[in-house]
Amino acid sequence: MKKILDSIGQLLFPKLCVCCESYLTHQDGAVCDLCYLTLPKFELYKLEDNPLAKKFWGRINTEFVTAYLSLRNSNDVQRILHEIKYKSNKNLGLEMGRALGRCLLNTKKFQRIDYIIPIPLHPKRQNVRGYNQSNLLADGMSEIMSIKVITDAVVRMKYNSSQTKKKRYERFINSQEIFKVLKPKSLEGKHVLLIDDVITTGATMEACGEALLEVENLKISIAALAVAT
Ligand SMILES: [Zn+2]
Repeated sequence: MKKILDSIGQLLFPKLCVCCESYLTHQDGAVCDLCYLTLPKFELYKLEDNPLAKKFWGRINTEFVTAYLSLRNSNDVQRILHEIKYKSNKNLGLEMGRALGRCLLNTKKFQRIDYIIPIPLHPKRQNVRGYNQSNLLADGMSEIMSIKVITDAVVRMKYNSSQTKKKRYERFINSQEIFKVLKPKSLEGKHVLLIDDVITTGATMEACGEALLEVENLKISIAALAVAT
């Protein structure tokens, strides 16, 4: 019965691939198989000294840093990020989280994570948007990796406006003390995986990581859905 209803629904409101807008079958998620195959991947994701990891060298101590997709020249990746961030496409967020989770399971270092921590939005911004896109990714990853997601350990204190027009140094200054760790005792000695949808300069990750590294014996790894390298 559900299948029949799904088919009728598909006739009335056809589901289209987020990237190429071709018709999707009811088995498909939000992206068609062909687009999945051709999305530009962050190919060096398994390497400890990949270009994304190098971005953080000399800035914060990390165990491992990686991403699933590469933003370079890709409208499809832009479209996916936009859908997740601004269009409330929660299924796509979960689906991409699962894809990122599968990619992390291929790397040994990521198999020793205690908690997944999505980069928090400022509560005001989260209220306006209604959700945090990084939480969706984290929930999808958690399904695949069987690792607990924690969303109340870190809070974002500052409501900074769009950072896109600022220079790197200004962004860095602006990002100081943005984040505060609320339950440091519960994180002592743990290895946490910080998640964000996209990493460009790495300033947000760095600021959140700095706050967390105040916790005794805490280790940090970082993963993002997409990276601009
Ligand atoms: Zn497609």
